[in-house]
Amino acid sequence: MRVVSPLLKHAVYPTLHHIGWLDRTMPPGGYAVVNYHGVLPADHSDADTFLDGNLVSPQVLRQQLQFLKRHYHIIHPEDFRAWIEQGQPLPPRSLLVTCDDGLLNTLTDMLSVLQSESVPCLFFVTAASCSDSPGMLWYEELYHLMRVKPLNRLDSQLPQEEGTDSLAFQSPQARWWSTVRRSSQLDAHARAAWMGLVRSHCGMTQGFLSALRAGERGSERRWRLLNIAELRQLADAGMSIGAHTLTHPVLSLCSEDEARREIQTSKTDLERALGRPVWAFAYPYGNPSAMAERELRLAREAGFTCAFLNVEHWPDRRSDPFALPRTHVTSDTTLLELAAHLSGVHTRLQRAVGG
Ligand SMILES: [Zn+2]
Repeated sequence: MRVVSPLLKHAVYPTLHHIGWLDRTMPPGGYAVVNYHGVLPADHSDADTFLDGNLVSPQVLRQQLQFLKRHYHIIHPEDFRAWIEQGQPLPPRSLLVTCDDGLLNTLTDMLSVLQSESVPCLFFVTAASCSDSPGMLWYEELYHLMRVKPLNRLDSQLPQEEGTDSLAFQSPQARWWSTVRRSSQLDAHARAAWMGLVRSHCGMTQGFLSALRAGERGSERRWRLLNIAELRQLADAGMSIGAHTLTHPVLSLCSEDEARREIQTSKTDLERALGRPVWAFAYPYGNPSAMAERELRLAREAGFTCAFLNVEHWPDRRSDPFALPRTHVTSDTTLLELAAHLSGVHTRLQRAVGG
């Protein structure tokens, strides 16, 4: 949809907004869910648009929240839970705000914006945030390490995927994503050991985060995960906490036992650490290339109330509480684009043009 999307973004959505259509259109199911991945901290100077594009600036977050408050009824995550568990009605045009991964900037840079706009948020964090020293997301660290030095022989230690023999001709980002997929086939213990080898290979035995601290090359708030004390601060500030697996693998590439453990144990670990029920789950990556029907079943069996995708629809599962759609906000999402996605207009237009 590379040809059509700019047309939608820059011509069609402004026109639909001008005639009031975006405001009149109800989101499918009567509610919408927006998903962030954190806020770029002011001290983060080494911006890399590939990974940093998932985060927004504090100014953009505030502008979007103010826009959403004007056009939607922002609800508390616990009201969303009561709707699913007890059938309690939601107000018209309900909107739930969520944020994935549990980066430190959610506490240091995002929380103050949420609080000043009186917007509650459901944060999905990995069980790494139950510890005192959670480190960073392994796949983000791998991206940085692969930029330091090619993996060479360490690449051949991973399971092979069809088509990866042409890796040499792919972009660095495509090579990285292929490596993330292949290392997701290792269990969490074996993957952690392999990442240790990659760090040594790149001359960073303590990892990229330590190199950042030593060289002042970037912001710890951008990359580090919340530790347990910081996660409790977020929860004590009135935010809801959901689970996002133990280690954020591509779940559909894990064995069934490993996928079950990633989903189930993240719930029990977070509940033990926080002393409160963890009722919601978000699938890592959350799109059909990273999960399938099996993951929907495993989330249900783990005892969650509901589970969230990172895409706006799932085939034939419009009202399934374990395939809840979300609109993923990136750094270049415009206000009207956001409105078109939340209302469902974007999906309908994409289908109409065969996208
Ligand atoms: Zn995630």
